[in-house]
Amino acid sequence: MSDTDILIVGAGPTGLACALELSRRGIKPRIIDKGDGFTPEAESRALGINNRSLQLLAPSGVSAELLAQGIKGERIRVRNEKGRDVISAGFDHPGALYPFILILPQGRTERILADALKQYGVAVEWNREVIAANGNPKKPVLDVNAPDGLESIRANKIIGADGASSTIRNGFGFSFTGDSYPTEFSLVDIETEKPLDATELVVDFSGGHLLARIPLGRNVFRFISPYTDIKRILPKDLATGRVIWQSSFHINFRHVEKMQRGSVFLAGDAAHIHSPIGARGMNLGIEDACWLAWMIHKRTEANYSKLRLPHVRMVIKQTRQQTDALLHLGGVGRFARDHLANIFLKIPAFKKRALTRVTGLDTQDPPWIED
Ligand SMILES: Cc1cc2nc3c(=O)[nH]c(=O)nc-3n(C[C@H](O)[C@H](O)[C@H](O)COP(=O)(O)OP(=O)(O)OC[C@H]3O[C@@H](n4cnc5c(N)ncnc54)[C@H](O)[C@@H]3O)c2cc1C
Repeated sequence: MSDTDILIVGAGPTGLACALELSRRGIKPRIIDKGDGFTPEAESRALGINNRSLQLLAPSGVSAELLAQGIKGERIRVRNEKGRDVISAGFDHPGALYPFILILPQGRTERILADALKQYGVAVEWNREVIAANGNPKKPVLDVNAPDGLESIRANKIIGADGASSTIRNGFGFSFTGDSYPTEFSLVDIETEKPLDATELVVDFSGGHLLARIPLGRNVFRFISPYTDIKRILPKDLATGRVIWQSSFHINFRHVEKMQRGSVFLAGDAAHIHSPIGARGMNLGIEDACWLAWMIHKRTEANYSKLRLPHVRMVIKQTRQQTDALLHLGGVGRFARDHLANIFLKIPAFKKRALTRVTGLDTQDPPWIED
């Protein structure tokens, strides 16, 4: 049996951000992960980092490094079924310090967070998998499979940042209700033969198939579609490019009813999952992490769940509405998209409201960061 003050389970973006924010305030946690290293860069789910995360990660110096390594998605363009560009809008929210979506593979973001964490003498302990919990959130103990045998860890606080299938969530009896969509989405990252515009995100309905395009570089692009045979619907000149990664995923909308029980806290995908539309998942996890670290430092962590859950519910509601609108666009929706959206986006108040979601600035401002 070993004792520790704070144990973070999971070294994805959420767990790493939490470890870093605690460490820079003089509270050094242990952070363990069942994997043997970071997400391979070429197999990264999350790409988009929003204004809120960049604001939260600026004090640790991480944002400067993210900005140095990422590319800026500055605009979105929507093309309708007839191949006509019907929406073109910049991400230049008037209140945003970073008026773009920063694009960087999740694996690279994790490495940058871990490098910053190392400066405080904290390193991820890989190959340590939590296999059981004692189920008592007031005096939590975990059984961990480690390279040198089984370790039982008793901790004053446990932070479950162990992703969508969280062992911590299940082991301490948190509910995780919601639903799943039957549609299977396909994803393919392609190295194109010729460079394309790497500053714009494209949502393309032409040909009757929904296809989203996100830049990963001047020659590398991610395509996502609810159409299973995604390579068949790519423009011919792109379909011949080298496939870097191909995957598929289902969309779930689920969240816990409480993000804390006793001394056990949940953050990131362990506490909430939703559609990747709007690039909110990792960003919301980074937000949970930064708030939780600040609240532990201030000894106000008992308010964590009350503070974070309204934002979680709001993002789940928004992403569900946006996903439904994309998947089941009726006649009225198409008319609004083709004839009204561009006009409304020229009205500053409307544009600001729409972009508040994209930038993540629809959640509470962190009081510890001055603009
Ligand atoms: C196709 C797709 C695209 C996306 N794009 C975006 C985007 O652009 N922007 C965005 O913000 N979000 C995006 N997301 C969502 C984003 O990927 C997740 O929200 C994010 O990865 C969650 O981070 P996390 O650290 O909470 O969990 P994870 O990244 O899942 O990390 C959990 C960690 O816990 C470890 N672990 C699990 N179980 C155990 C255990 N029992 N013991 C020890 N360790 C354990 C795992 O090894 C892992 O390292 C996307 C998702 C998908 C599917």
